[in-house]
Amino acid sequence: MEVGNIFRHLLIHNEAFVKSTDATKFLAYATQQNPYITLLTCADSRVHGQIMGTDIFNKVFIVRNAGNQVATNRGSIEYALFVLNTPVMLVLGHTDCGAVKFATHACITQSKEIVNLAKSFDKLMKTDYSLINREIKSEMLPLTIPIERGIPDLRKIQNEMKELAYLAQINVDYQIEKALKYYGDRVKENKLTIIGAIYDFVGAYSNQLGRILVTNINGIVNPIDLHVEAKKIIKRIPNYDENSEGFKVASRLIDEKVTRIIA
Ligand SMILES: [Zn+2]
Repeated sequence: MEVGNIFRHLLIHNEAFVKSTDATKFLAYATQQNPYITLLTCADSRVHGQIMGTDIFNKVFIVRNAGNQVATNRGSIEYALFVLNTPVMLVLGHTDCGAVKFATHACITQSKEIVNLAKSFDKLMKTDYSLINREIKSEMLPLTIPIERGIPDLRKIQNEMKELAYLAQINVDYQIEKALKYYGDRVKENKLTIIGAIYDFVGAYSNQLGRILVTNINGIVNPIDLHVEAKKIIKRIPNYDENSEGFKVASRLIDEKVTRIIA
């Protein structure tokens, strides 16, 4: 799309939003915000707020950067956690992440031995990264730390889509490790729960495109323990009846969505 149309869209779409939104909605949060989730996610345009609900105004404090990294925006994250006191921090990676791919490419080109390790590497080796300048590199290269950890496991996966999703998953684990280093005390005091997840729009985890898969809770990654932890969290809903339809639905969704790609 060229600039004239982009600018026209901006004006028109905002006007449509103004017309379709009741003024009382703005007045309710005109002087303060009360989000309940701090969302740390990738800047990728395919990851969008609506995946967590159609109305996330005043509910989700969003911090975004290439590769959903804690270190890049600690100030914004800590404003949400310490000033706004959100009880949940969601670290959300995604499938086909460009930052993960760049870091993987950087790892492969450093070592000839690992090039034949995974199916996804053939295509990555052919990707042209010549437009990536120093600024872009300096933001994405820290991701080589978690990616290097995940690469040896890829020989057990041998599925292009799953391999890259697995590396995104390992990156989320690493970012949560960092978050626990800085905010672990709040987790211990039960003031904060850190959830790691992958937004899957390619079908790496299941045939259901668009799912958010929960892959880590407070650093717990063992699938059985992760499942137990997810059930424990649901039971914290006050007066929740385990025989109710709502609980059964939540339990079924936990079975389907709390899962990891295992290597
Ligand atoms: Zn990304």
